[in-house]
Amino acid sequence: MAQIRIENVRKDFGAFNAVKSSTFTIEDGEFFMLLGPSGCGKTTTLRMMAGLELPTSGEIFIDGEEVGQKPASQRDIAFVFQMFALYPHMNVGKNISYPLISQGMPKAQVKAKVAEIAEILGISDILNRPVGGLSGGDRQRVALGRAIVRDPKAFLMDEPLGALDAEFRERMSEELRALHDRMGATTVYVTHDQLEAMQMGDKIVVMNHGVIEQFGVPQEIYDWPATKFVAEFIGSPPMNFLEFNGTVGTGAEHVQLGEARIAIPRQLGGESGALTLGVRPEHVYLNDAAPYRGEVVATEYLGTTQIVTLKTEHGQIKARIPSNVIVKEGERTGLDLDARTLSLFDATTGHALRSEANQEVLNHG
Ligand code: ATP
Repeated sequence: MAQIRIENVRKDFGAFNAVKSSTFTIEDGEFFMLLGPSGCGKTTTLRMMAGLELPTSGEIFIDGEEVGQKPASQRDIAFVFQMFALYPHMNVGKNISYPLISQGMPKAQVKAKVAEIAEILGISDILNRPVGGLSGGDRQRVALGRAIVRDPKAFLMDEPLGALDAEFRERMSEELRALHDRMGATTVYVTHDQLEAMQMGDKIVVMNHGVIEQFGVPQEIYDWPATKFVAEFIGSPPMNFLEFNGTVGTGAEHVQLGEARIAIPRQLGGESGALTLGVRPEHVYLNDAAPYRGEVVATEYLGTTQIVTLKTEHGQIKARIPSNVIVKEGERTGLDLDARTLSLFDATTGHALRSEANQEVLNHG
């Protein structure tokens, strides 16, 4: 299996710069997510790893060997496209064995290999069936089988579950992850779905407009977003932003929001001007005695929890609280923000300010 390293990789299509200067490493055996909104450059990045696009500049290493300008056929990597590009006139077994037969592998060896893969994927009983009548899940398993059978160095997957309905998608994503854990193969997976990335990935790169906004494990990205973009893109509802003008000095442990003094993680650098305080909905607590105030403008019942939207002097804020707490629209209440979890951003650049709590994460990658 393989380590993949992307170093200062840039891709231009004519005058359009689709990927700026990307640098990151995918370790051997990782399940790695390329996450971002439509058009951010994730498919282009994946295609450059596969050799389906050549970088305009920069280098791509597979197990230490520079392959940036090599064609796909010389990279020993399997690309799994969005849903099932299968050969319709062949049965399941023939679809899976095709790559081996075209490599000239002896028949007996092909048969054993196909049987082994079918066993892993749980499709041994349908090897003689035509692919035409198969369910979506089985078609996806056959497509995976065809990729796995070659024992490639890595799997590259471009929204492989994108066309599936929500319930089935969840089942297949669990199966894919379990399969990965069994085989330990390096896998790079493109998605625009933040939940899928958080659930499946060992590590995530978040991209926006061709730029890497953050690289890290899911929890780091969720807890300590490096930019306002990441804070909004990850989480549902996303992180709340309270906008204010102020000064946060080195060593500061509080910010002043109107009349209220809000505790924050200890700051490692100074900043003043337009700032943003970020807080996740589950770290906002309603407490009538708290000095920071808001007015309830909406409530949304979600079963065990509810989302309460409040209007404050510095913007709207959503709190995720237990649904048995009775809250009325129009009511004014105090808000406690969990000091250990707060993020601060420069409102102009969108970059997170450094604090003791987030320093390690922002230095990562
Ligand atoms: P999506 O999920 O919508 O595919 P993405 O993040 O994967 O989004 P890319 O497909 O990598 O985005 O495309 C990044 C940008 O580059 C887009 O603006 C796209 O229009 C542009 N682009 C991609 N391929 C080409 C091409 N062959 N020629 C010109 N522009 C391209």
